[in-house]
Amino acid sequence: MTKKISDNNSDNNKGSSAKDKIDSGSDLGVKQVVGFKEKMRLLIESFADELPQQVNDIGESWEQLQVKKDVEAVQVLHRQVYSLIDSSKTFGFPELAVAARGLEKELKVILQNDLSVDGRQMVLMQQYIDDLKSVAASAGFDFNQDASSCDNTEATTFIEPCRLVFVVDDDVEAADELVLQLSYYGYEAKAYYQLEKLQVAINKNPDAIILMDIEFPGDQLDGIAFMREIQKGREKPVQVVFISARDDLTHRLDAVRAGGCAFFVKPIDPTDLIDQLDSLITPRDQEPYRIMIVDDSPTTLRYHTVILEQADMVVKAVQRPIEVMELLIDFSPDIILMDVYMPDCSGVELAKVIRQLGKFVSTPIVYLSSEDDFNTQQEAMSLAGDDFLVKPIDPQQLISAVNLRVRRARLLRSLMVRDGLTSLYNHTSLMSQLEQEMSRSERLNMPLSFVMLDIDYFKKVNDKYGHAAGDRVLRSLARLLKQRLRGTDIVGRYGGEEFGVIMVNTKGASAEKVIDEIRVVFSRLFHFSEDSEFSVTFSCGIADTDNFVDVKSISEAADKALYQAKENGRNQVILNTGSN
Ligand code: GH3
Ligand code: MG
Ligand code: MG
Repeated sequence: MTKKISDNNSDNNKGSSAKDKIDSGSDLGVKQVVGFKEKMRLLIESFADELPQQVNDIGESWEQLQVKKDVEAVQVLHRQVYSLIDSSKTFGFPELAVAARGLEKELKVILQNDLSVDGRQMVLMQQYIDDLKSVAASAGFDFNQDASSCDNTEATTFIEPCRLVFVVDDDVEAADELVLQLSYYGYEAKAYYQLEKLQVAINKNPDAIILMDIEFPGDQLDGIAFMREIQKGREKPVQVVFISARDDLTHRLDAVRAGGCAFFVKPIDPTDLIDQLDSLITPRDQEPYRIMIVDDSPTTLRYHTVILEQADMVVKAVQRPIEVMELLIDFSPDIILMDVYMPDCSGVELAKVIRQLGKFVSTPIVYLSSEDDFNTQQEAMSLAGDDFLVKPIDPQQLISAVNLRVRRARLLRSLMVRDGLTSLYNHTSLMSQLEQEMSRSERLNMPLSFVMLDIDYFKKVNDKYGHAAGDRVLRSLARLLKQRLRGTDIVGRYGGEEFGVIMVNTKGASAEKVIDEIRVVFSRLFHFSEDSEFSVTFSCGIADTDNFVDVKSISEAADKALYQAKENGRNQVILNTGSN
């Protein structure tokens, strides 16, 4: 569902200035492109601004090195030169990187040979420094021209995935009911009872998902023929799910040929339908990828941050390696992108330390460095770390590389910590997160609520409608909780038909209000089994950290309130304030 904005807006943008686009662009995408390019321009500008200082620093360190030939002086200079190569490559000043490369190699040789430097090397290095200064001076003047080399960054803009659904059915009542059920699950649904009006709507919202009934007695076309017409000449087909009273191969084949992604036979079970819709859209509710970047160069750091943030990732940029430890626990990254040469400690050393922290043993560590020497790369990875990305890396390539690794890492992790039926956190993982979140809340002096939910008379549901229908109820409650709660809330399957929710930065009274709203919505959902339709309720107990300060007492208190809710007649939420 990602798409280049440039495909979409190249025509209607003609003739307006960047500022106009920011001010008047009603299309979110237009604003994003301008915002992103502007940020890039500012970054390149700031690199150019910092350039004279960086080259001066190198000159000064060189002077010092000649006076005081110790390891530290060589290391400092090496790092400065390295960092210059890094940012020069990144910001499109290749000639500067080339000029600095020779110097960097000489310095590396000196470090490897225990500081023995002969006269020839000294002359050579002086030559490199002089070259560097003159290239830097001209690069600074040519700045505007070089800035264009970052134009490919435009390709990294993404459009929000769409949750708009058009329900098309001549049966007004059925269509309206489906729209209502979809809205409970966070979809923006709209009903169409006739085909003509739909055409205009699709042209306006080509990314909407169409739920199309096949039989339209009053219309000349049926749903399939209509969609075949709609799909003609489109670069990207409209996503359509067909619904039919009949189930035969001819219909199914026709549906596939008209671009149908799925085929449902009436009566439809909304849970199955929602599953299908969820799989059609890029999961917006999925927690954004969390990336930690460790790099001592502030400009490079900002550059990579902007690129990844543009792709909707959450980035924690760390300039001082020494701060990594503390930030790791709170930020809990999906992946760590690590510079190789940094002051205080090297990337490899830092990677080793991180690996020794049990919790991060499976977090991918990827070196992002302009080190293009294969042996050095191999050596770094043999010590710690999983992969090497060589700078300068194209923005789109960086995003893909990060996406791929995070997706894989999350999949592996989810097999360990998630429940197979509902995909929520399993009991063990929920409780360890409760422990962690409680201590974090205490540290930050924030409230936290723990919620326990249990489905009412669930045994009867299984007995009457079958275990499979029971499973679907569990999945629908799981989905509802995920959709209705904030991304920061942690939802788990406590066991059987019991669920647990950790609501961070939430007092008991607010949690009670939110959960009670979910209770009402849940009781209105329809579940299906064979030919029958039924509804289910849940009871809930809540406790918060104002009254209960450790995992044991808060979970016992929530459980007690839940028991009370059951006793009081079920289908209700009770907050344990410590006094009852
Ligand atoms: P109450 O209102 O008091 O909570 O009554 P209840 O029937 O919901 O509670 P009880 O604890 O007696 O029964 C829970 C039932 O949940 C029994 C068990 O078979 C069923 N259950 C537990 N796990 C699953 C599951 O994964 N799938 C299905 N379909 N049923 C499950
Ligand atoms: Mg129950
Ligand atoms: Mg139970």
